[in-house]
Order: sequence, then C-alpha cells, then structure tokens
Amino acid sequence: MEGGVRAAAEDVQACPECGAGIKGDNRYVVWCAACDWNVDPEPPDEDGDRLDRARRVLARRHGERLLAEVTAGGELRAHRDVSSVLAFGIALAVHGVTLGLACGGVWFLVRGWSGSGIGYGLIGLILLLLAWSLRPRAGRLPDDDPVLHRQDAPELYALIDEVARVVGTRTVDEVRFDAEVNAGVLSYGVRGRRVLTLGLPLWETLTPQQQIALLGHELGHYGNGDTRRTLVVWTAHRTLTDWLYHFSPSDGPAPGPPSADEIVANVFYAVPRVLTRCVLSLFDHLTLRASQRAEYLADRAAARAGSTEAAVSLMEHFFVADTATVVLRREGAQAAFTGGRRAPGNENRAEGVWDRLRAHMASVPAHEYERQRRVGVRRRHSVDSTHPPTDLRRQSLLAGPSVPAAVVADDARQGRIAAELAGARAEVARRIIRDGLDD
Ligand SMILES: [Zn+2]
Ligand SMILES: [Zn+2]
Repeated sequence: MEGGVRAAAEDVQACPECGAGIKGDNRYVVWCAACDWNVDPEPPDEDGDRLDRARRVLARRHGERLLAEVTAGGELRAHRDVSSVLAFGIALAVHGVTLGLACGGVWFLVRGWSGSGIGYGLIGLILLLLAWSLRPRAGRLPDDDPVLHRQDAPELYALIDEVARVVGTRTVDEVRFDAEVNAGVLSYGVRGRRVLTLGLPLWETLTPQQQIALLGHELGHYGNGDTRRTLVVWTAHRTLTDWLYHFSPSDGPAPGPPSADEIVANVFYAVPRVLTRCVLSLFDHLTLRASQRAEYLADRAAARAGSTEAAVSLMEHFFVADTATVVLRREGAQAAFTGGRRAPGNENRAEGVWDRLRAHMASVPAHEYERQRRVGVRRRHSVDSTHPPTDLRRQSLLAGPSVPAAVVADDARQGRIAAELAGARAEVARRIIRDGLDD
C-alpha cells in the first residue's frame, strides 16, 4: 500500500455483541463504540515477572491519585518529599557498596603484594573487577545520529531558546535526530551538557504548535526536579539492575532436573538476588510518584509554551503515533523487496518517506483515535510505567487552566527551520530505508 493513503472501503455492519451499527474501515480494526466489542483485539502479555507487575500496579495507583489531586485543584508542584530524600539515601548506599568493594579490593591486593600470599592478591583482583563492573556510568549517546549544533541551525535553536525562557530553564547545547516515534532530553558529562533528541517520525508529523508543545514538555523535564533524572539516583538504579543481572541464573532453568552445581549456585545467589529485588522495588516505589508528577508537570510546561489546545492535541497524536512505526517498517520492507535496501532507486524512495508518513497520519480516521484512546484506558500501565497513561495526561491538561500559546512560529520561521533540518531528515530517511527500524 503506497504511503498508507488508499480509498477506505467503508461499510456498515451490525455489532455481533450488541447489534449496534459499526461503520467499518478495512484499514483499521473494526470495533464497536457502543459496547467496546473488539476494541483491543490483541492485548499484550501482562505476564512479565512479579517486579514488573508490582511496578505497573503501583504506577497506575500513583497516576490516578495524582490526577485526582490535579482535578481537585491541588497544586502540581515539584517538591523534595520524604520519598525523594530516601531514594537519594538508597542511591548513596548503593554507590557506597561499590566504593566498599573497591577499597576492599585495594586492601587485599596490598596484603597480597606485601607477602600474605597469592590468595589475597586474587581476591583483591576479583573485588576490584566487581567494583569496576558496578561503577556509576552515565548513559552513552549513540555516536552516529545526525547532530545539529547552534551554528548549523540558528532558527531551530532560537525557537528552543524561546521555549526554554517560557518554561524557565536553560536551553540545550545539542540537538540530535533519530528514527524513533519519540523525543527525549538528557544531561551528560560533569558539566551537564544538555542534549535534546528529536525522533523525526514524531517531529515531522506534528503541526508547528504541537512541535512547540513537544519542546515545552521536553525542556520542562529539566526544570521540574524529576528525581530519577538526577545523576546519583539514575546511576544507582542502573547499578542495582546490574546487580540483579549478576545474581540471576544465566539462561533461566535448563531443561531436565537441575544439576548439583546449579542448585548450589542458585542457593548461593538467591539471597543477594532477593535482597536486590527488594531494594530495587523500594527504589521504584520511592521515585515513581516523583517521575509521574514530573510528566504531568512537563505537560503543563508544554501547554504554557504551545497552548493547552496544542498540548492536548499532542496527547491525542500520541494515541496513534505507533502507527507511524508500522508505516516506516513497511517502507523498509518494500525497499528490501524491490531490488534490495541499498539499490540506487531507494534514494528516491527515501526522499518521499516524510511526505508519505504525513499523509498516513492525516488519514487516520477519528474512530481509530478513539479506539486507541480506549485501548490506553484499558491497558493503563501495561506498557510503560514511568509515564502516566496518555489519556490521564490529557485529562489532567483539560482539568487545569486553559492557557494561550506563549511561543508561536509563523510560516516563514517554520520554513527556515524545515530547511535547517533538511540534512538530518534525508539522513534519517536513508537509514529507515537502508537499515529498517530498530526493534
Ligand atoms: Zn456493540
Ligand atoms: Zn516526558
């Protein structure tokens, strides 16, 4: 199907559940708005492990309680509460253990060196290796994504600066582009360089005002004290996850009865594993509320920058944003089918990717938005526990005061920004065609 635009064959049928008339569109799931028949034909596996399930339940509870607070006119304000201080304490303790391992390693090594025997030296080496593997590490940026610096894209940076002023935070130092239907911010390095990553499949399908709201949301994250994002807490979370990995049996239970070795290893690891799990879920419990609050706050920042209307419509865009992934996967698959992904003709194909994607998004019918919204309500936190469900975020925006846009971009400005992004757009499109989307 070229570009996702095709005459939709609409016909009316009766709902097998309640008999209400369903207007079908053969490109999308046929479902009944009256009784929710077939609204979610493929619900995800809710299995996961116990930790995942507990996290989802917790996230749902926090999300709903926060919404209730917001709806009741409660003030949505970032603050350091007892939980975030406790989380910080645990984080310090986690790093303390790593430091302890390193110190112990040095002690044993020195003893071994000064004649206490090779055994000491070996223990020292093992402890040091362990400490090294658990050291706090900041995330690494992928080094091949297209990057635009201030001098390459003055108009884009001017827009971001303006949004940053409205949101009340420092602007970003670097803008990166990738093929995700998403956007994100992070800080790295000792000086806290701020990096904004814009997923072009998201950015290119937004209206200018939605783009401004998106920038407001992302920059809002810098300003609202999201504890999970502070370096100490974030790296401790990562170290805990590493511990869990170290203490878990490599491939799950092997077929057949466990060997004596496996039983010994399992017993040996069971205690630290359970302990780590407990600390990790406590940690989650303590930071989840703050991180969900941070999402609601970031949405408020989105509204201040781009208007409540634009922020709400951005949420609605998120309902169906995943269909962009389907379209882009199909683009890659078609290229692979017709003469290989690297065939010369694919250059032309890459040029048209964004137009076809925009055409697809514009063609998504209202009933599919509504279906996805209902699916989101049903699944709530089954997918991502750090973000409140999109529908709750939308409701939270609608419950708050409606604000006009503080930043606007006229056509001329939009044109200049689009021109600055031309190189990144071409590069990301080429990759989508050539390599397909990452899983
Ligand atoms: Zn029905
Ligand atoms: Zn966010």
